[in-house]
Amino acid sequence: MSRVCVVGGGIIGLLSALELQAAGLEVTLLERTLPGRESSWAGGGILSPLYPWRYPEAVTPLAAWSQMRYPDLAETLRESTDVDPEWTRSGLLVLDPDEFEPGLAWAAAQGRRAEVVGEDDLRRLEPRLAHEGEALWMPDLAQIRNPRLVKALVHHLQGRVRFLDNTPVQGFEAPGGRLRALLTPAGRLACERAVICAGAWSGGLLSTLGRPPLIEPVRGQMLLFRSAPCEQRRIVLDGGRYLIPRRDGRVLAGSTMERVGFDKATTRVAAEALKAFAVGRFPHLEAVEMERHWSGLRPGSANGVPYIGPVPGVEGLFIDTGQFRNGVVLAPASARLVADLMLGRPPILDPAAYAVDAPRP
Ligand SMILES: Cc1cc2nc3c(=O)[nH]c(=O)nc-3n(C[C@H](O)[C@H](O)[C@H](O)COP(=O)(O)OP(=O)(O)OC[C@H]3O[C@@H](n4cnc5c(N)ncnc54)[C@H](O)[C@@H]3O)c2cc1C
Repeated sequence: MSRVCVVGGGIIGLLSALELQAAGLEVTLLERTLPGRESSWAGGGILSPLYPWRYPEAVTPLAAWSQMRYPDLAETLRESTDVDPEWTRSGLLVLDPDEFEPGLAWAAAQGRRAEVVGEDDLRRLEPRLAHEGEALWMPDLAQIRNPRLVKALVHHLQGRVRFLDNTPVQGFEAPGGRLRALLTPAGRLACERAVICAGAWSGGLLSTLGRPPLIEPVRGQMLLFRSAPCEQRRIVLDGGRYLIPRRDGRVLAGSTMERVGFDKATTRVAAEALKAFAVGRFPHLEAVEMERHWSGLRPGSANGVPYIGPVPGVEGLFIDTGQFRNGVVLAPASARLVADLMLGRPPILDPAAYAVDAPRP
């Protein structure tokens, strides 16, 4: 059986391992700490780019492919692990009036459902929302409970993939430009094919090869309210911030965009701003317990177009990272695409726009 290594156990690494294992390869996943504890845990799980019309064209096909794959993936994981990732078609309400026109045009071009709803319909869709005026309603957009998704993936892959936890990859052995081994504190691991899925830390790994980092960490803070089921049913997006209702009533308020290096501290300023945003849209949240406040580091890339493909100059080494604000929604397609490229299969999508050296708009 052919062997391959995956570096990093976030959603991108876990799904890449799943794809490569499903193709019959013997997969070893090396994780610096424990899988599924970083951005893929910290994120919101909205299965769409926020304001998708603002992104370069290359992001949309990855999102569309993943959106089709998610219901089956969630069901397979639920059946095989008893952890339900809670794929839920919540629908999404956009409150910013300036976004209605571009949103409608984008939806028409993509064949998606979207309509501008008036106050009566809005009351019916989301009775407790405090909003005067219309909203853009996108009924098909879904969410997934990402901490459960990564937990289910880890359970599903146990026994199928070899996990090397607490094993940071520190560099590569690639004499003559051909990958031979990964270097870890425990020694060298012989390996002729590997994919870097190290999220915000991928840039550091690339710099060990003398390549400039392509990825910068972008911190996002999140607040969790312990609300009751059905107080809010739709994802609400307004002014770049959002509120996501989970099935058990918990509501996530996010998020910030901060370039502060690898600092994962949370700040009182952000907590106050997120709370004010949440209470402004749903006044009942004022009296609801704030259960948790955390942050995560997104793998930031130019315009959110990920890097998926071979690392130039090192035969056998690939990269799949830089999904930035959209790593959960882009993960299934990103993982399938990198597996296609590693295995020499016809790719699900034209990979040109995601190549490491492709010009970024
Ligand atoms: C607040 C917030 C909200 C978000 N909301 C959404 C959303 O609603 N929808 C959406 O689609 N996306 C969202 N995102 C973005 C999404 O979470 C990320 O794009 C995605 O999780 C990135 O996945 P990843 O696997 O690349 O990175 P990570 O989950 O960070 O995983 C990378 C892994 O690599 C490991 N690693 C690092 N270096 C090494 C090494 N040298 N050796 C071995 N292992 C290593 C790390 O320990 C980590 O486990 C959000 C992110 C944040 C922070």
